[in-house]
Amino acid sequence: MTQLDIIRPDNPILRKKAKRVTNFDKKFQTLIDNMVETMIEAPGVGLAAPQVAISQRLLVARLQDDEKSKEEFGDLAGKLFVLVNPEIVKSSKETVEGVEGCLSIPGYLGTVDRFEKITIDSLDRNGKAQRIKAEGWLARVFQHEIDHLDGRLYIDIAKEVWEVNPEDEDDENVVAE
Ligand code: ZN
Repeated sequence: MTQLDIIRPDNPILRKKAKRVTNFDKKFQTLIDNMVETMIEAPGVGLAAPQVAISQRLLVARLQDDEKSKEEFGDLAGKLFVLVNPEIVKSSKETVEGVEGCLSIPGYLGTVDRFEKITIDSLDRNGKAQRIKAEGWLARVFQHEIDHLDGRLYIDIAKEVWEVNPEDEDDENVVAE
């Protein structure tokens, strides 16, 4: 597997609306594997194809599998999600404020309101339909990544953005997406 370069906002691909995936060939499978490796190595909990300069509607997500994460998320910790052509088909009325970082915008964090719960219809890596219900942090990760597919960055909708302070433990605990 190969680690891919993560692009920054100065690259216009990050601002484009990505195209729907129609071809699930070997090349596409390799792209998925490489994105997973890139996300884990970064380290991050989510990565959308436009972040590696591929303008296609594909995202991968994986909550960390360390002890703290297992305690908090149970079976979801370390579970790999591959979503192709995702659509949010249902969302809760409630929104929650939370802190996000982005692998394309290193060194910064921001507070963003997201739906607390969402239901997403998408295809898996082989083109088979899948419905995923997510809440809390995982729902946040998916919303952040789906925004990437529409050329939107969290800094567009954040209430506040700040530079990471390495001495602030709260900042350290936020894993980028
Ligand atoms: Zn991001």
